[in-house]
Amino acid sequence: MNANNRRIIIIGAGYGGMALANLLAKRGHQVDVYEKNQTAGGRISAITQDGFTFDIGPSWYLMPEVFEQYYQLFGQSAQSRLALKRFTPGYKVFFEGHEPVMVQGDLAADAQMFESIEAGAGEQLRRYVDQSTDVYSTSVEQFLYSTFRGWRSLPLASMIGQLPKLLRLITRPLDRHVSTYVHDQRLKQLLEYHMVFLGSSPFQAPAIYSLMSHLDFRSGVYYPTRGMQSLTTDMQALGETYGVRYHYGQGVSEIRVKDGHAIGIRLDDGTDIDADQVVSNADLHHTETRLLAAEHRSFDEAYWSKRQPGPSAFLLSLGVSGRLPQLEHHNLYFVQKWRENFRDIYETHQVPTSASMYICNPSKTDASLAPADHENLFVLLPLPAGIELDDRARDDLAERIIDTLSRELDIPDLGQRIVTRHQFAPGDFADRYNAWMGNAFGGESHLLSQSVLFRTPNRSRRVKNLYYVGAGTRPGIGLPMCLISAQVTYKLMHSIRTHGPLTREEVA
Ligand SMILES: Cc1cc2nc3c(=O)[nH]c(=O)nc-3n(C[C@H](O)[C@H](O)[C@H](O)COP(=O)(O)OP(=O)(O)OC[C@H]3O[C@@H](n4cnc5c(N)ncnc54)[C@H](O)[C@@H]3O)c2cc1C
Repeated sequence: MNANNRRIIIIGAGYGGMALANLLAKRGHQVDVYEKNQTAGGRISAITQDGFTFDIGPSWYLMPEVFEQYYQLFGQSAQSRLALKRFTPGYKVFFEGHEPVMVQGDLAADAQMFESIEAGAGEQLRRYVDQSTDVYSTSVEQFLYSTFRGWRSLPLASMIGQLPKLLRLITRPLDRHVSTYVHDQRLKQLLEYHMVFLGSSPFQAPAIYSLMSHLDFRSGVYYPTRGMQSLTTDMQALGETYGVRYHYGQGVSEIRVKDGHAIGIRLDDGTDIDADQVVSNADLHHTETRLLAAEHRSFDEAYWSKRQPGPSAFLLSLGVSGRLPQLEHHNLYFVQKWRENFRDIYETHQVPTSASMYICNPSKTDASLAPADHENLFVLLPLPAGIELDDRARDDLAERIIDTLSRELDIPDLGQRIVTRHQFAPGDFADRYNAWMGNAFGGESHLLSQSVLFRTPNRSRRVKNLYYVGAGTRPGIGLPMCLISAQVTYKLMHSIRTHGPLTREEVA
């Protein structure tokens, strides 16, 4: 096989698959991406209805330096290509039964806000964010890009030096860690809510994820001015420069294997396509249990039955007449029964009786997403993976959400102002993306046993030349993680054994 001119097939045009396609094509490989749906971007999806464009996927642009590092591999800048703007304030938080607060993304201002809720909490926030920044830097520089294969891929010196601190953060749940800094439930919620977006619970996930607070309170909240869909269109435009080819409406039914090597794919219509290497960006459960014959599976149903998927979600999109001055672009609503909310999702597996939510109002930033004098609302309510909602249950949940928003976000006439609505439920994730148990974010939750080197790896253990990329594999869930995942998989495909990010020379 020629080192620089292989025929490579990628199954799925999600963000991780697209990011890897670009890296491989830049290196000189011939890259073809086969996607079952009619558009690229995978979970970065949107629907249009009655003049509104509703995102039904990611809306937070997190870890901006990870995007920047990725684009720099191509001699480009994410900041200028995506026209990033910083939100001030970063977001607004509504607490059940209390006044809302703004998170400014400015440590001095946010420390004052903490102090106003709990005496001494301002200083505690500074301490918390300092350790969070420290863990964030260590993770990005030393661990997230590692393939964990071979000594050179392991940051041994740093691991030994930081072992006591890392052990403490790995062995204790985030909620317990946060409790050593602040006590008021609202402040704890502000330091713990990210776990929802990482597909986990602060009562189960390790405290190492405290690194997320670095983003809120020090790094700041950014947004691509042309909206989240521009991440896909820009990734595609970048790839076209290097000759990446996309094939839409071409679902893959099988990864063909001969003598233990992946030799290509079979499409749903029965067409066989040959390749030197195959990468799947589809959910790993789907890839392993549906696209591979039983004898070629590294991770069979017995394996998945012991793993915990990230949560599913109910997405409610609302077109609303008039303005919504009560809201910022990003808004969060946290219930008082915080622990019970996570218990319902991860332990009793039922529709939460009391549900926290994320409410996005993107037309605040981009007026083209709604007709004149209207607002675009997108509500995300996390649900247990695997739950099924019939039409009646969906409608009931939608009504419950509208009722809560009217009451708790101070929009009493919301019900009468809704001009259109769209619902997206767990079964839709399974149908649209082949998502394992209808999970929303792309894979396993971030329990310790499913994080870092314990996460399902980026290559098959049984089939040579078969690799994986995206949220289901290392390092994990979310768009920046998908960019890192693309680099981890690229390294495995080229036997690069460093632990840091790729360099420009390595993709030349
Ligand atoms: C509602 C929601 C909100 C989110 N919010 C955020 C956020 O604010 N910030 C953030 O960073 N992340 C967020 N995420 C998570 C993030 O969107 C995902 O982690 C990420 O997009 C997953 O990308 P991926 O590369 O794993 O591929 P996916 O997006 O999962 O794409 C996989 C692709 O494979 C295709 N496919 C599957 N099976 C086949 C087959 N047999 N043949 C051909 N094609 C196939 C699918 O159609 C899909 O296009 C959110 C996700 C959702 C759903």
